[in-house]
Amino acid sequence: MRTIRGRLAASYAVALAGTMFVFGLVIYLVQRRENLGELDDRARLEANLIAATLSEAYRARGELVVTDRRTGRPVLASEVSPFLEGIPGYVVLVGPDGDVLHLSADARAVQYAQLLLLLNPVFRADSTAEFGTADLGAPAGLVRYYARPVTGAGEQIAAVLSGVSTAGIVLAPRHLVYVMLAVAPLILLASTLIGYLLAARTLKPVDGIVDEVEAISDGRSLHKRLAAPETGDELARLSRTLNAMLARLERSFQALRRFTADASHELKTPLTVLRSGIERAITHPRVTPEVMEVLDETLAEVNRMAETVDALLMLARADEGRAPLHLETIDLRELLGEVSETASLLGEQAAVDVTVDMPDHPVMLGADRNRMRQLLMNLLTNAIKYTPAGGTVAIESAVREHEVVISVRDTGIGIGPGDLPHIFDRFWRADPARSRTGERSGVGLGLAISKWIVEAHGGTITAESRLGRGSTFVVTLPLEPPSAAEADGP
Ligand code: ADP
Repeated sequence: MRTIRGRLAASYAVALAGTMFVFGLVIYLVQRRENLGELDDRARLEANLIAATLSEAYRARGELVVTDRRTGRPVLASEVSPFLEGIPGYVVLVGPDGDVLHLSADARAVQYAQLLLLLNPVFRADSTAEFGTADLGAPAGLVRYYARPVTGAGEQIAAVLSGVSTAGIVLAPRHLVYVMLAVAPLILLASTLIGYLLAARTLKPVDGIVDEVEAISDGRSLHKRLAAPETGDELARLSRTLNAMLARLERSFQALRRFTADASHELKTPLTVLRSGIERAITHPRVTPEVMEVLDETLAEVNRMAETVDALLMLARADEGRAPLHLETIDLRELLGEVSETASLLGEQAAVDVTVDMPDHPVMLGADRNRMRQLLMNLLTNAIKYTPAGGTVAIESAVREHEVVISVRDTGIGIGPGDLPHIFDRFWRADPARSRTGERSGVGLGLAISKWIVEAHGGTITAESRLGRGSTFVVTLPLEPPSAAEADGP
């Protein structure tokens, strides 16, 4: 259950099942009680009716009990017995000495052992009335009875019992239980589904917010804000809170960029002064070779620092959107010729063979010439820098429908699969042990800048590499860059 909507639907189902169970139980118990109450009323009514009728008959005709000539036992006079026969259910009439004067047809049908369950209460009832339940076994089942004394119907009649089988009636609530058991899963299924859909509907705005935040938090879109719904509910509050957080984040990012830009800018002038001072000192005629060596090293360091500061300033400006592209139509072939010449010279120094596969016709491209040169030089110097002597670096280009694909392939040391996702990050460098200072110096900003240049032109840059086998950087650029190819932060 990983989603809130799943959990909501599950708890909704459990709650509903619980409620349905309690509801069903209450209905069952209430119904059962009512039904039993009705049965009791019926049994009492019948017993009272019998008692009253017998008293009435006694007053009208005298003794109602006669002696059966065949058995010599007392029985009910034939004038009143049809009346009792006409009463449905279980009727037992007894005399004071344990004589059974009348048994209804239903009572006669039960076994003697069960009949005792009715006889016992009626014999007991010669002084007080009582309600009770007797289990007569199938098919009668439970019988609710009312036994009461009969007064005023002569000495020979003591008590009467009237019983009604619960079979038909108690079944009714049981039926209800079966019906509920059959219907409950369907209701549960339907309501869980409805609950799930409702939860999904309710939580949809949350998904929307998550998507929006994801789109914003890629680092470039901190100026964007979430659409805060006018509902004034929790989600509106969440959106407002997130917007406030985004505003704070944007301010800190801006401050950070501004600081980097200002710091780099402030460092530029002293570095230039430093460099020209060292250059002047180097050319001084009275410099000793030892001092010359120190000055050379310092100049190299100062140059490296100046490059880093330039790169930082450029990235900071790009982040702030203050590094616009100067788009013009350039011939890629011409540009490739230019950079490959420089690359060949660098390759010669490093004993790396540089080959260029030139397009056989001019490829006109809308781009910023200086940025393009910087991009290609970054890739080529990296390729030469990370390729041991004797290796090769190849530049290829191909024109597709609306784009040009430039690839820079080397047979160098390669990049490990764990490092590959980070190479375009700022200040990221592979294992320092692999990049010996001096020979493979760098600060790890080259590829970050390259990525920005490509993306600002509306293109993409990817890298493939195998450790020890070499790397290939592929740049894809649209022939017509997006008109609003304004600088955007990487
Ligand atoms: P650096 O100034 O260190 O060259 P980059 O941003 O140009 O910075 O490159 C980042 C890291 O990516 C490098 O330090 C290096 O580890 C790795 N890298 C870049 N190009 C290559 C290549 N052609 N072959 C092997 N590793 C490379």
